Amino acid sequence: MAYPHYNRFTQMQRKVASKSDSLPPIRFTKLTELQQLVAELQEQLSLENLEFVERSSQHLIDAICSQLKFASTRVHVLERRPHDDYSELHGLYEPVDETRARARIYVWMRTAKRQQVVAFKAYLRTVIHELCHHLDYEYYRLDDSLHTKGFFQREATIVKQLIG
Ligand SMILES: [Zn+2]
Repeated sequence: MAYPHYNRFTQMQRKVASKSDSLPPIRFTKLTELQQLVAELQEQLSLENLEFVERSSQHLIDAICSQLKFASTRVHVLERRPHDDYSELHGLYEPVDETRARARIYVWMRTAKRQQVVAFKAYLRTVIHELCHHLDYEYYRLDDSLHTKGFFQREATIVKQLIG
């Protein structure tokens, strides 16, 4: 994914972006617990069982939020990625708003065209990407969640720790 074009941001977004870029990296102290859950998730994905993939994804997200001491979010795993002629959707984050009391993450486990189960690292990266949106809103309390340099660094740092 390309870095954002900061010059297209509104003044409010620029303020959020500069805060987003200056946040300290996430460092987990109880990494073994998380890596165990990641290993379970990898196994469930290889078995291609949607229900168990969803459950394992939820366990991982819950454990991360619990270690960082903030409210978790519901994870929904769906089968085939939605797509148009140019791209397919890997994941989606819906923040809390007037219609939604709890944030939600959606992740798709099969590619749009061949309907194959996505590679584990790609799946994990998508889950963590959507979790980083949740972090922005609920942990860092930013007014918006933008694809900033800091955002992608957080995503990469978390994934790197999780896969060891
Ligand atoms: Zn995103």
